[in-house]
Amino acid sequence: MRLGAAELGLLATAGLTAVSVHPAPRVAVLSTGDELAEPGAKLAPGQIYDSNRATLIAAATAAGGDVIDLGIAGDSPDALEAAVQRGLERADVLLTSGGVSMGNLDLIKPLLDRIGVVHFGRLRMKPGKPCTFATVMYAGRQRLVFALPGNPVSSLVTFYLLGAPALRQLAGWREPRWPRVQVMLSQALPLDAYRPEYHRAAIRWDATLHAGSGGFVAESTGNQASSRLLSMRSANALLELPQGEGILAAGSMVTALLIGEIA
Ligand code: AMP
Ligand code: MG
Repeated sequence: MRLGAAELGLLATAGLTAVSVHPAPRVAVLSTGDELAEPGAKLAPGQIYDSNRATLIAAATAAGGDVIDLGIAGDSPDALEAAVQRGLERADVLLTSGGVSMGNLDLIKPLLDRIGVVHFGRLRMKPGKPCTFATVMYAGRQRLVFALPGNPVSSLVTFYLLGAPALRQLAGWREPRWPRVQVMLSQALPLDAYRPEYHRAAIRWDATLHAGSGGFVAESTGNQASSRLLSMRSANALLELPQGEGILAAGSMVTALLIGEIA
């Protein structure tokens, strides 16, 4: 657990040089997929670079995790099981990405079903529908497994929504959830007819809003395709858009999860 400036000062004020803290939860991060290559390597035809691991390692570290890098596992049941076992052995929380859609190579859910309890295997949200959560008993202790979708935006958004609060809870935070604020849309946004959506946005304070009392304004980060990680690049908020028909008009108020600093 990291102590803040005032906390460290308070310890000094009380004359203390040692104090017990919650240990940081150990988090193992695994990418899955035969198509994945390490950044820096030369790409063979049909390969792409593994970007989820770098992303999730950074996000898990920022959420207070002590991260173990499990590398890339190919799409074979044996490779996957061996990598998952290594994670369970060493970590309290396992984050995997990929291999949870409905194709032939979606091997994670059957594996988790066999070695633990799958609590859910789909979420009615956009992005992130195939997200899976399981618990596995290993060496007498329960491990949490978040099997996140492979698409880069989906894996990061589902980590923010599920993984980050779980890590903060394990690390002993009093309020592990993201702060929520009310924001005004600066532009019209389309709604999804089937799923609530977490729309990536940049929010800023506008002192002229609400007859001069001020308020937050949200601007979309653009194309929200779940493969377009750039939509997260300048996002400091996830707008909670309800499922619905048509569009939400500019000027509408919505709630937003504050996932980054406000510029
Ligand atoms: P999957 O659920 O494994 O079919 O993955 C869905 C999509 O995400 C596919 O287009 C994958 O190539 C892509 N993907 C999966 N894992 C990664 C990763 N670690 N980095 C970047 N893209 C990925
Ligand atoms: Mg895959």
